Amino acid sequence: MPELPEVETVRLGLEIAMAGRRLSRVQQRRPDLRRPFPPFFAERLTGRRIESLSRRAKYFALHLDDGAAVLVHLGMSGRMLVGRQDDTPPGAHDHVIFDLDDGGRVTFNDARRFGLMDLTDTADLLSHPLLRDLGPEPLDKAFTPKVLAAGLAGRSSAVKVVLLDQTVVAGLGNIYVSEALYRAGIAPVREAHSVKPRELDKLVPAIKDVLTEAIAAGGSSLRDHRRPDGELGYFQHGFKVYDREGEPCPGCTCKEGIRRLVQGGRSTFYCAKKQR
Ligand SMILES: [Zn+2]
Repeated sequence: MPELPEVETVRLGLEIAMAGRRLSRVQQRRPDLRRPFPPFFAERLTGRRIESLSRRAKYFALHLDDGAAVLVHLGMSGRMLVGRQDDTPPGAHDHVIFDLDDGGRVTFNDARRFGLMDLTDTADLLSHPLLRDLGPEPLDKAFTPKVLAAGLAGRSSAVKVVLLDQTVVAGLGNIYVSEALYRAGIAPVREAHSVKPRELDKLVPAIKDVLTEAIAAGGSSLRDHRRPDGELGYFQHGFKVYDREGEPCPGCTCKEGIRRLVQGGRSTFYCAKKQR
């Protein structure tokens, strides 16, 4: 499932391919994804110029020259494929095909169809029902230890679980929360309210660092390792704990290595010695 850095990499790759281009043809190949497409979706996009792309949490938006915005979520398995227009018939899971006036083609492919697309006005985008209750963007300057402290206050659930709550901080998922808690030395099972200010002074920079490093890795994957099929957003990334159960712990001298536990139905990877 794509998390914030993967979505930001998709946004960046699409901005390179789509910004400034006009949509010469849009094919909507089914009536719905997770929810129905808005009425006349393809018709309303056709002929419009894409001015820019933005991101909020794990959503991104295409901003059109008539003030409309296409809001996109990739869901569990949604992928954006960048290529050229050709005669190849679309695949079974190619649900939306955007043809651009420079001969480029962007295909939204989603086997499980948990993704979604909606149409709104750019002026109303942040008050869209899917976006308005989201917490702060973790990479914004406004996301500080004080702000996170307010989000954790009074919450007795595990800090790992509360950090996945999109109203506390937006865009974090299982992978980057595990990584950030490891770097900050905070046990994932701690009750959220018990994390002290001096620990938040480590956790907030750790969150920003893991995301920034992953976005940088995604950006360099766009430049250096463009996949032949043009798929955006997935790249090799050196996680310290994620999916490394039983491997040596890179951050300390513990004998046990990286452990795994299940919280809220999701795997957490951690070190029992480094994280307290
Ligand atoms: Zn360790």
